[in-house]
Amino acid sequence: MEHGQRAVRHSSRIELSLGALRQNLGFTRELIGRQARISLVVKANAYGHGYAAIVKMAERCGIRHFSVASSQEAEEVLAAVREDSRVMIMGILYDEDLPWIIEHDIEFFVYDLERLKHAAGIAGSIGRPALVHLELETGGNRTGLAAAELPEALRLLTRNRRQLQLAGVCTHLAGAESLANRFRITQQLQLFQQLRRRIARARSLEPAYHIASSAATVALPESRLDMVRVGSLAYGLWPSPDVRDLYLMHHKPARSNPLKRVFSWKTDIMQVKSVSRGEFVGYGTSFQAHRDSRIAVLPIGYGNGLPRELSNRGTVLIRGRRAPIVGSINMNLFFADVTTIPEAQVGDETVLVGRQRNNEIGLRSFTEFSSALNTEFVCRLPAGIPRTIIR
Ligand SMILES: *Cc1c(COP(=O)(O)O)cnc(C)c1O
Repeated sequence: MEHGQRAVRHSSRIELSLGALRQNLGFTRELIGRQARISLVVKANAYGHGYAAIVKMAERCGIRHFSVASSQEAEEVLAAVREDSRVMIMGILYDEDLPWIIEHDIEFFVYDLERLKHAAGIAGSIGRPALVHLELETGGNRTGLAAAELPEALRLLTRNRRQLQLAGVCTHLAGAESLANRFRITQQLQLFQQLRRRIARARSLEPAYHIASSAATVALPESRLDMVRVGSLAYGLWPSPDVRDLYLMHHKPARSNPLKRVFSWKTDIMQVKSVSRGEFVGYGTSFQAHRDSRIAVLPIGYGNGLPRELSNRGTVLIRGRRAPIVGSINMNLFFADVTTIPEAQVGDETVLVGRQRNNEIGLRSFTEFSSALNTEFVCRLPAGIPRTIIR
C-alpha cells in the first residue's frame, strides 16, 4: 500500500483454497508419475486467481516451474517466486527484452531461426546462456519452427553451445480437450516423435520434451513425456466435459470428482427492499415482480467480472439457500430475489461462486448460459479484488 493510503474494504472478495490446489496437484502427479514434472501455467494472472497468491501456494506444494504467456507476465511472476523456481515464457517476447530475460535465467520458447541467432548474440555479450525451448510446428499452425528449419536450428545450437542451452523441445496440441480433434492430434504426436528422434540423433542434447496441457495430461498418457504444462487442472477446472466424462467413466465407481475448485467469490447484501407486485426492478423492464417481493441489492456487476448474461438467470447463495438473480446486471450492482429467505438482511454474506452451508454454486452455472469457457470466466476476474489464502 502506498504511503498515506487507507485500506478500504472492497465490494467483493476471493478466497483461494490451499487444500484444493494441493489436491489438484496431487491428482496431476498421480497421473504423470515420477518421471515427469509439472510446469504450473500461471498466465493471465494465474487464470484470474492472482499471481502472487498462487505462486506462493504452489511453491508450498512443491512446484518450482511456472509458465507464462509473455515477458510482461514473466516480470510479474519473477517478482513472486523463490530463488530456486524457474519461469518460462511460452509466447510473446520482444528482442529488446532478451537481455533482461537471459540475465534472469528465464526460459523461453523459440519458434524461428532469427530469434535463435539473436539470442545467441545477446547471450554471448552478457556471458550467460539463453535457456531456450524449441517450439516445433506439428500441425497446430499456431507458433512453431517448421520441420524444414530444424537442421539449421540444430546447427545453430551446436555451434553456439555456450550461448544457447537447449532446455526443452515442445509443441502444443490443437485442442486435446475435444474428442473430435483426436485424428489431428494423433498426427501431431507422430510428427513430434519423428522430430524428437532427429534431435536425439543430432548431438548429445538432453532437452526436456513437453507437449501436454491439462486435457492431454488426463486423456493422452503418451503425451506426458518429461514435463506437462498444466493450468486448468491445477485450478480444479476440467478442460472440457469430454475430458471430465472420459476420466470419470474409466474410474467409476472408485472415484468421485478428483478436482476441487480453488477459488470462491463472495460479496454481501447492500440493501434489502420491499417491492410491490407489478413493480419493475433496476433499469428497464426486464424484471417485473409477480408477487410482493423482497429484493436484495448487491454491490458488484459486470464491471467487477460478473457476466451480464446472468441477468434474470443466475443464482447466488444467501443464508445457505439459492436466491435467483433478477433484473439486468448493472456495471456495479445487481439484484437477487430473497422473498423466500425472510431472514436475509444487510451485510449478509452472498456467495457468487463457492459453498455456503450445504449448498454450492460452481462455475458451470456461469458458463451454461453463454459460450464462455470456465477459464474465460476466471480470467476476467479483476486483479483488484482482494485474494485471501484459506486452508
Ligand atoms: C495455456 C497453455 C497451457 C495450459 O493449458 P491448460 O489447458 O489450462 O492446462 C499449456 N501450454 C500452452 C502453450 C498454453 O498456452
